[in-house]
Amino acid sequence: MALLVPRRYAHAVTGLLDRLRDGVVLGAEGYLFELERRGYLKSGPYVPEVVLDQPEAVAELHREFVRAGADVMVAFTYYGHEEKLRAVGRAGDVEALNRQALRLAREAAAEGDALVAGNICNTWAYDPADPEGSGDRVRGMYRDQVRWAAEEGADFILSETNDYVGEALIGLEVIRDHGLPAVVTFASSEDATIDDHSFEDACKRLEDAGADVVGLNCSRGPATLLPLLERVRAAVSCPVAAQPVPYRTTPEQPTFQSLRDPGGGRAFPIALDPFTCTRFEMADFATAARDLGVGYIGICCGGAPHHVRAMAEALGRTVSASRYSPDLSLHPILGDVATTAGRYGSWRDG
Ligand SMILES: [Zn+2]
Repeated sequence: MALLVPRRYAHAVTGLLDRLRDGVVLGAEGYLFELERRGYLKSGPYVPEVVLDQPEAVAELHREFVRAGADVMVAFTYYGHEEKLRAVGRAGDVEALNRQALRLAREAAAEGDALVAGNICNTWAYDPADPEGSGDRVRGMYRDQVRWAAEEGADFILSETNDYVGEALIGLEVIRDHGLPAVVTFASSEDATIDDHSFEDACKRLEDAGADVVGLNCSRGPATLLPLLERVRAAVSCPVAAQPVPYRTTPEQPTFQSLRDPGGGRAFPIALDPFTCTRFEMADFATAARDLGVGYIGICCGGAPHHVRAMAEALGRTVSASRYSPDLSLHPILGDVATTAGRYGSWRDG
């Protein structure tokens, strides 16, 4: 049977699962928010047109994540499916965008021995009241995206920000049809999936259907994701993935969609800045998740390279960008040799 598996896929299976057996695989995402902040992508539709229009901007962010220590380059095809591209009048660009995104990720991955992940996500086309009809439409979009990713050399497929078990199962079925490892994660925007499964049950169902890695991404910051992760970890046997948003969510405002500024205004999605986690908070998340037994640890919307480097270093790694990691002993005011040393104290200690 193994002889029937194409050589590239056989290597790929070894790549992801072997790395997970050896230790933590560090993911890095947040392309959507970061490229929006940099002026290459429109908030609202959030369609990754930048892949075709300004590919060098995507390549640069990939490179920054590789230098920060990411083990995976995720092709920026989030919301790169037909449904979303049609909404901005670019349905004819779906294949070109997907293939180009894979190539950009592959080129960056080669700079740092990273794996390449194809990416599928929530489509907004799935309707639990019409799982057959809407499911066929979703399946068609996923088939195209996964086939293009496979042809462009993806090592595995990341199916993320899933809101429905039903839709996630369709994605998994398509990924398995292509013989690629599947990482499937749910967005915990509410207390359960929209089709009303607890997240631990949702993950267990995906594991039972053959997912290699299951878990949670997006929506929650470290403080409110960790308790859910503990339940998921206890419910499944396979490796668990966790990619929170780097925002200071609380039990009262558990998701970044629910965060409110002091005046009561909604901070999501483009006024979240004051809630952003520091690099130290994300480093603490990385070690806490590792200690819980989470194998695939990353970051989602809002994440930036400085977070990823701090997470990598907290996990005991020295990465390319560590060359420029902070050394405040050399700071003119805070440092050991500063003439004004002690005048301001450490900014971390207050
Ligand atoms: Zn996200």
